[in-house]
Amino acid sequence: MQQQPCPTPGVLEVITGPMFSGKSEELIRRLKRARIARQRVACFKPDIDLRYHRTAIASHSQQTHEAEVIRNVEDLRARLFPMLHAVEVVGLDEVQFLSGAIVPLATELVALGKRVLAAGLDMTFTAEPFGPVPHLMAMADKVTKLSAVCMVCGQSAIHTQRLGQSQELVIVGATGLYEARCRTHFSPFLDEHHSEQLELTATA
Ligand code: ADP
Ligand code: MG
Repeated sequence: MQQQPCPTPGVLEVITGPMFSGKSEELIRRLKRARIARQRVACFKPDIDLRYHRTAIASHSQQTHEAEVIRNVEDLRARLFPMLHAVEVVGLDEVQFLSGAIVPLATELVALGKRVLAAGLDMTFTAEPFGPVPHLMAMADKVTKLSAVCMVCGQSAIHTQRLGQSQELVIVGATGLYEARCRTHFSPFLDEHHSEQLELTATA
């Protein structure tokens, strides 16, 4: 009996890790490669992250990729679905700031044959699972967990350390407010001591 050809299956890829681990860089790299392969790409980020650009996702190493700013998951759906027939790859950065509604939407897009690339923090600065990211990791076809460099000792860093005195829950991209730390040098409490900054350090 002749095998029926499979319709192109969708796929969910999650890129995660602490701040400065290269999530945005990796997302941008995958999106650019998809475009080289002549796939049509749509990229989005929540409006909480307007650090560098309103119209692009950006890495701490100044790489950028065009993106639309969305207010929430409903807004994402409203913008994406009218153009969905013309899109093969959907990129999402800072996905930890979206609600749990991103999980069924990502699943729906995959079922429609789309490649969904979702980048975001896996843990908060108090080392709790961050928003929908752990759920997305569980549902993913492929999870890439990146590490940064600990700013105290240079070892591999899985944590994001909040620095200074601020008690605000979400502060995005303010210079010197966060740094990457290994397990040994991470504390879920605020650390008032900044590490000596390298030349490569983020300039938000
Ligand atoms: P993320 O999206 O995970 O926050 P980015 O892709 O924006 O990370 O930035 C990664 C880049 O940040 C690295 O390529 C490097 O140039 C820079 N960087 C600054 N501090 C660190 C650090 N502590 N560890 C690793 N990279 C760092
Ligand atoms: Mg990033």
